[in-house]
Amino acid sequence: MRRTRGRWFHGAMANPVILTVDDDPVVSRAVARDVRRRYGDRYRVLRASSGPEALDALREVKLRGEQVALLLADHRMPEMTGVEFLEAAMDIFPAARRVLLTAYADTDAAIEAINVVDLDHYLLKPWHPPEEKLYPVVDGLLEAWAATPDAASAEIRVVGHRWSAPSFKVRDFLARNLVPYRWLLSDDPEGVRLLDAAGATEADVPLVVTPEGKALIAPSEAELAALAGLTVVPASDFYDLVVIGGGPAGLGSAVYGASEGLRTVLVERRATGGQAGQSSRIENYLGFPDGVSGAQLTDRARRQAVKFGAELLSAREVVGLSEAGGARLLRFGDGSEIAAHTVVLATGVSYRVLDAPGLADLTGRGVFYGAAATEAPSCVEQDVYIVGGANSAGQAAVHFSRYASRVHLLIRGADLTASMSRYLIDQLERIDRITVHPHTAVVGGAGEGHLERLTLCDTRTGEARSVDTSWLFIFIGAEPRTDWLDGVLVRDERGFIVTGPDLLAGGRRPAGWSLSRDPYHLETSVPGVFAAGDVRAESVKRVASAVGEGAMAVSLVHRYLEAQ
Ligand SMILES: Cc1cc2nc3c(=O)[nH]c(=O)nc-3n(C[C@H](O)[C@H](O)[C@H](O)COP(=O)(O)OP(=O)(O)OC[C@H]3O[C@@H](n4cnc5c(N)ncnc54)[C@H](O)[C@@H]3O)c2cc1C
Repeated sequence: MRRTRGRWFHGAMANPVILTVDDDPVVSRAVARDVRRRYGDRYRVLRASSGPEALDALREVKLRGEQVALLLADHRMPEMTGVEFLEAAMDIFPAARRVLLTAYADTDAAIEAINVVDLDHYLLKPWHPPEEKLYPVVDGLLEAWAATPDAASAEIRVVGHRWSAPSFKVRDFLARNLVPYRWLLSDDPEGVRLLDAAGATEADVPLVVTPEGKALIAPSEAELAALAGLTVVPASDFYDLVVIGGGPAGLGSAVYGASEGLRTVLVERRATGGQAGQSSRIENYLGFPDGVSGAQLTDRARRQAVKFGAELLSAREVVGLSEAGGARLLRFGDGSEIAAHTVVLATGVSYRVLDAPGLADLTGRGVFYGAAATEAPSCVEQDVYIVGGANSAGQAAVHFSRYASRVHLLIRGADLTASMSRYLIDQLERIDRITVHPHTAVVGGAGEGHLERLTLCDTRTGEARSVDTSWLFIFIGAEPRTDWLDGVLVRDERGFIVTGPDLLAGGRRPAGWSLSRDPYHLETSVPGVFAAGDVRAESVKRVASAVGEGAMAVSLVHRYLEAQ
């Protein structure tokens, strides 16, 4: 054991889970017995008799901060088929390996499932002897799982206060980067033990303990990224393409850039997925008729980009862009630089701050911007308030209604029709626990150490009332954070980046434009620098269009490089 600022120590951690689901009790017992015999010393084998029961078990495992390595599901089950179960399970444990148990007659369903749920394998029943037909498959899958970040960081533990903004930031960072961790309150017996062992006190939280037993007190995001196995240092100092921003547009560019042979690096300041990564269910993205969670879409896109050879840097913010001859230089927050022939700016938008007395001090302590999915299980049986009338707020209301006793959606207008998609309005209307409050604004918040009360105001009459709550989630208009590009390229009055034909005011090319052609469609006023997705002026603020623009930007990158 080694010592650092805290200490190195070891704690007893639960083994990762293998879950088997089968409605036939005889088969179910046999599967669990075979699996337990071979893997029982390293894995905890759980058994469920239906899809819903298995999903409940998975949620419980998730809440305890434990890991699931493998799911073995029978296909033909009455309440929910194996494929349906595996699809739902992917939302909870996207990295768990998935196996479908089928009868010979169901092989078509199994083959179809390879696409629907990224099935790793299907096993024909019966599989006897297991030494030949079951174990070799499971050995391979467990090995593949053990190589994922989920397994590598399966035992990160975070000790913090329920209402501490720095504790929330650590959990939010890990959750958004899909890094599993176990959350412990500083007054939990295990939390107390970890604090003691690290030589820390309650005043030092958040404390982060790595699987190897290294303790970090209030680590920075870069430290967290490094300990979670995320890449923070670029492998090279020159690239064909640097993509800034890891939302759908940036991930789209990284996938297309790398797959088409460009040396590509994507730089993300927080967590890949961007806004879409916060979405509990994206229902209108092409190819996912049953919807897809932002976490799942991000996980797939990230793996796809890496598979094609793109480098993904996390917890690195780009703060400067300049030209040096034919190269574009990008400066990071710590002053270091990388260079590239071309750049795609895919920095998206962030929520505007709700400016009401008391809220700023309570941010991260009951007041949250965006979905803050990590908080949902803590809202059980409580009243939750959500501000905003767009799809993002609607999705959050649906998501939180699974936990909260009542979800109050506050909107300034008379109804949601102008701002929210019809399918979501219909969903909200079907959920009894959700109440929409029209003509309502939040004008204040208060509480000792965390949010306890909100002051709401009727926007027509000005009449104010106070409500008791510990939870406020804010989804109001978003703005691009592009101040660092001021004076470098043309932006509109709200900070969105102007591209292509929109740069040709009165038929004139932008000031400083050095080429004898007009800017390409997504090109900014700096040749070779493109913008894609929500950050681009006049773009459609949707996942599909962001991905599409990310891909299109890469084809324009090729056109630019060919002309050089
Ligand atoms: C909760 C929620 C639900 C939504 N649901 C839907 C839906 O159902 N359907 C739909 O079509 N759309 C939906 N949207 C909108 C959709 O998510 C966005 O249109 C889409 O994510 C835009 O993608 P983007 O890549 O352009 O930007 P973003 O998703 O905003 O990603 C930008 C990324 O760039 C990073 N970044 C910013 N500046 C820097 C910098 N200087 N250096 C490094 N990194 C930087 C940010 O951290 C961020 O990760 C939803 C949005 C939200 C918030």
